[in-house]
Amino acid sequence: ALTQRLSSVVKTLRGHARLTEDNIQEALREVRLALLDADAGLPVVKDFVARVKEKALGQEVVGSLTPGQALIGVVHSELVALMGGTNAALDFATQPPAVFLLAGLQGAGKTTSAGKLARLLTKTTKKKILLVSTDVYRPAAIEQLATLAKNLEVDLFPSDTSQKPVAIAEAALDWARKHYYDVLIVDTAGRLAIDEAMMAEVKAIHAGVKPIETLFVVDSMQGQDAVNVARAFAEALPLTGIVLTKLDGDARGGAALSVRQVTGKPIKFVGVSEKMDGFEAFHPERMASRILGMGDILSLVEEAHAKVDRVEAEKLAEKFKKGKDFDLDDFKSQLQQMKKMGGMASLMDKLPAQLTQMASQSPELGEKALARTEGIINSMTPQERRKPEILKASRKRRIAAGAGVQVQEVNQLLNKFEQMQKMMKMMRGGNLGKMMRNIKG
Ligand code: GDP
Ligand code: MG
Repeated sequence: ALTQRLSSVVKTLRGHARLTEDNIQEALREVRLALLDADAGLPVVKDFVARVKEKALGQEVVGSLTPGQALIGVVHSELVALMGGTNAALDFATQPPAVFLLAGLQGAGKTTSAGKLARLLTKTTKKKILLVSTDVYRPAAIEQLATLAKNLEVDLFPSDTSQKPVAIAEAALDWARKHYYDVLIVDTAGRLAIDEAMMAEVKAIHAGVKPIETLFVVDSMQGQDAVNVARAFAEALPLTGIVLTKLDGDARGGAALSVRQVTGKPIKFVGVSEKMDGFEAFHPERMASRILGMGDILSLVEEAHAKVDRVEAEKLAEKFKKGKDFDLDDFKSQLQQMKKMGGMASLMDKLPAQLTQMASQSPELGEKALARTEGIINSMTPQERRKPEILKASRKRRIAAGAGVQVQEVNQLLNKFEQMQKMMKMMRGGNLGKMMRNIKG
């Protein structure tokens, strides 16, 4: 729905030479709706749209861009700016151990994130990590962290549940100092709603262990409720960053905008699955693309640029510009490019939804199958490749024989090709390709 809204922005403005107060009105309305759809709160959206309008009106529409494309470009870069521009890294600059405190409501993902963070640090650094739970109200929660620690082979400081949370945290810090740990990750208890007792407790832990990172963990599926919770935590604690969890569900990312705006703190990590490896550094650029509904298109483009034969890609783009139809030769060169990029599987999570769906229905796009497909196309005459519609039964039999496959397989390939051709037409119609290049540059 977002992509639709935004391509209608592009359409609305088609045929206008520049962005004016008048022609921008309707387009901005779509941007506004798109963001509300993505779950960004109304105050944030109002502010945002006003800023985009101001920037856009001053914007020269350059070269081949339509005003609609230029506007999407402004929207994208403003989204990136709103989310902090670049990735904010963890701060370790203190006398070790560096203490990282995780706070947030129950179920936000604190314990899971504590484990994920420990895993990430063990994988990417040589740091010696210690975990501790201060959730004395729920024995199961301590057990949960203990299990994670065991599986991850990370050390855990045992929690003495007869003690107060702050005493446990201090004892863990003491132990970490004496045993030369580099990092102590402190998991805390949460409640279902904000209450004074919980806030007082987490403040006391904070005062006791003086963390260099105080990370507010928040469930992105919570939508607008997350904003109030974020505000309360930001008032109670000197937060240094945010961990946005459960971005793998149908959470649409808008929470990232509001939480960032309300707390003024950078999102440092996102949780993208229940599993321990589902944890990533937060990249404003990618989140902006996600909110705009384009999948992780920018990193896909980067990857493609790195590995794909550039000339081929440019040839294809050139054909597109001339309005030439996508033919089987193009299809083949696309398959070859896919092969260079490591098959479809590695691309799946980066493609926009429509393409992903198509790809998931094409198990034959594995490495071996790609070679077979190429073999079939190679058995066609150049004319057949350009005009697949002339492929009647007798030609298909000849091709199948030439490639050493069943006629059925030739038919399957042609079906797949037709789908791809339709997709290409759609993308060209919506100017999505151009739009993406515009946004990137
Ligand atoms: P806590 O109460 O804040 O410690 O929350 P937990 O760490 O126990 O997480 C609550 C639930 O959310 C658990 O079922 C986790 O598996 C799940 N969870 C946490 N982070 C993520 C995430 O990034 N993605 C998904 N899908 N589930 C998550
Ligand atoms: Mg927990």
